[in-house]
Amino acid sequence: MTLLKRLPRWGLLVAGLLVWLLVSILVVTFFMSRRQTVGLQRHSHDLAQQAEAVNDHFERSIASLYGVPASLADDAQVRQAPDVYARLPHPAEQPLTHRRAALALHPPLAALDRHLATVTKDLGVDIIWVLAANGDCIASSNATTSDSFVGINYLDRAYCKSALAGQRGRQYAVGRTTNIPGFFFSAPVIKDGKVNGVVVAKIDVSRLDQWFKRFDCFVTDELGLVVISSDHSIEGLAVDNSPLFKLSAAELNKRYKRTTFATLRIEDVEPRFHPHHSLLLPGDNSPIMLASRTRAEDGYTIHTFIRVPELDESGNLVPGLIALVFISGAALILLVAGIQHHLVHLKQAMVVAEAASRSKSEFLATMSHEIRTPMNGIIGLARLMMDTPLTEEQLSYMSSLKTSADNLLTILNDVLDFSKVEAGKIDIEAIPFSLRTRIQGALYPFQLGAEESGIDLRLDIAEAVPEYLVGDPIRLCQVLNNLLGNAIKFTHEGGVVLRCTVAEAHEHRVSLTFAVVDTGIGIPEQELSRIFDKFTQADSSTTRVFGGTGLGLAISRRLAELMGGHLEVKSKPGEGSTFSFTLPFDLPRPEEVAPKAAAAPVQAARSLKILLVDDLAINQLVAQKTIARTGEHFIECAGNGVEAIEKWRQQGYDLIFMDVQMPVMDGLEATRRIRTEEGPSPRHRVHICAMTANAMKDDRAICVGAGMDSYISKPLSPEDVHELLHRLSRLEGPPGA
Ligand code: ADP
Repeated sequence: MTLLKRLPRWGLLVAGLLVWLLVSILVVTFFMSRRQTVGLQRHSHDLAQQAEAVNDHFERSIASLYGVPASLADDAQVRQAPDVYARLPHPAEQPLTHRRAALALHPPLAALDRHLATVTKDLGVDIIWVLAANGDCIASSNATTSDSFVGINYLDRAYCKSALAGQRGRQYAVGRTTNIPGFFFSAPVIKDGKVNGVVVAKIDVSRLDQWFKRFDCFVTDELGLVVISSDHSIEGLAVDNSPLFKLSAAELNKRYKRTTFATLRIEDVEPRFHPHHSLLLPGDNSPIMLASRTRAEDGYTIHTFIRVPELDESGNLVPGLIALVFISGAALILLVAGIQHHLVHLKQAMVVAEAASRSKSEFLATMSHEIRTPMNGIIGLARLMMDTPLTEEQLSYMSSLKTSADNLLTILNDVLDFSKVEAGKIDIEAIPFSLRTRIQGALYPFQLGAEESGIDLRLDIAEAVPEYLVGDPIRLCQVLNNLLGNAIKFTHEGGVVLRCTVAEAHEHRVSLTFAVVDTGIGIPEQELSRIFDKFTQADSSTTRVFGGTGLGLAISRRLAELMGGHLEVKSKPGEGSTFSFTLPFDLPRPEEVAPKAAAAPVQAARSLKILLVDDLAINQLVAQKTIARTGEHFIECAGNGVEAIEKWRQQGYDLIFMDVQMPVMDGLEATRRIRTEEGPSPRHRVHICAMTANAMKDDRAICVGAGMDSYISKPLSPEDVHELLHRLSRLEGPPGA
């Protein structure tokens, strides 16, 4: 595995192809050898069957031919002929033609000639003739032809000798006068217990052709000469190393009328042909399987053969087949590798694209954060300015300025939120909270606006909805705020209802459906799916008429998804819209929501000693004025962490508002040093409140980690400051004492 990892991609590919080549070779070789084995088995079986048929046929034919001279040896005419011949004067010195004429004209012998000619035809042989005990031919079926045997002496012939010895004889030979090769069969003529003559029948080889037509076969005589064959081209060849080659030229000449013989090779070289042999025909290299059987009676061997093309063909086919299998497999491997390569690139491209999208979101988040800091100054100063005596004209300008600044802040907040969602920087909290309290709180800011525009804004929470839940109340309210804001914005008459019902209830969990229903202008069908896209408004004139960025619903939908739900809309133009989503909540354990001791009635904030640390003079001014609006406090300012520590050492404070990002020494470091100098006793501990434009959850954790106690986001709102001061002044004794 590690080796595979180290190989470069193309190396892996080449290795894969090599393995595939090996597999192709193995598979094809195995397949072909399997095919060959099966083919050979089939051929071997066929050959055995054919050999049996040929042997059987040959056996029966030979048997019937043996019977031809034997049956004639009992014929009365034949039996008398040698005696007739013995009585004739036959001077040896007479020329053959004279002897032949004398014999043929002798009436009893002439009658025998005619008789033999008749039975020859009937018995299906070529020639039948009768010899006297000295080997002279005394009558013959061909006596009237120019090739007549009459008068010729056959004593040298093996078939004649064996018949004279009282046995049946048989021989393959080339005819002495006819020059036609054939089989000779002989039988002795017995009279008074003595052999006094011989009957011979000859059948020409060509007449036996029909036997051999059906199968590939040939017959060799006892010396190994092919005497008859289905394929005439091998007739007259001699089997390599056969006894024939031991004969002298004279003997060969006498028997076969020639002395040279081309050879035919029969071998055992092909083990796969076992138990059969392999035959090599001259000028033919194709593999041939051969079955041979030698007859004990006469030494003839009957050979049957069959061609085995598979052996030849497999040799030629294997490379082609291997190439075919390899190429198709390789093409597949290359295709898969190509696709994989493409996918890897695609994945890389996706990673790059995602990173780009994230950095874009991060950039947006940073930008909006940076812009929020000066906005703090603008809004704060506008608010302060409006509290000073102004002419009516100035007041109207200031109020327009503040409205514009507020709108700008809303947009910035939207962009920041959306960027955070996109950058995956929003964590959903799971804390216990009172649903009714939170929802009422969310509804409250809209009450006034709704009343002013004559819209009935109602809250409808089903009784079954539990009082306490575990979830993220801030994000829930953010979604509801957005939906309520839109509903009121787009409704000119009728009402808006925020409804909350139980969708599913279990012992420890509950699913609640929230729906904001309005009787407003509605949304055209074709716009319904688009309104959740960022920067999209149903009608492009919306911004002009109603303001907004087109981000609210995109953020709300993402937040609902992060909380485990799905924001949907149903709407009809002119009739109104319903935005709804269902969220799962855990139910808190009883101790998590045990009613807290009743809060002491809110008292006026007592006078506190406050240090305000911020590097920007304008921020100092805004914060100072905002704090001053909540009561009579002693306020001092510092421009960075070092100054702050210096002042704290000299004075001691109840509360320090600490900016985080500052030159010289930042707020986190200053806090850490103050905490170290204070020591562990809670009595001397000063309350440090972070004051920063950073709105992300991580930032809050960092502040707490540095030792800060609370957190207020800029621009400071009088409500937040007031709430904090009240909280501190309710504590027993001066907090920093
Ligand atoms: P915006 O800041 O423009 O309100 P939103 O994403 O909140 O952006 O809404 C997108 C658009 O969806 C709106 O501009 C408006 O066209 C349409 N819309 C949203 N809520 C309603 C509603 N209650 N009634 C009619 N139209 C609505």
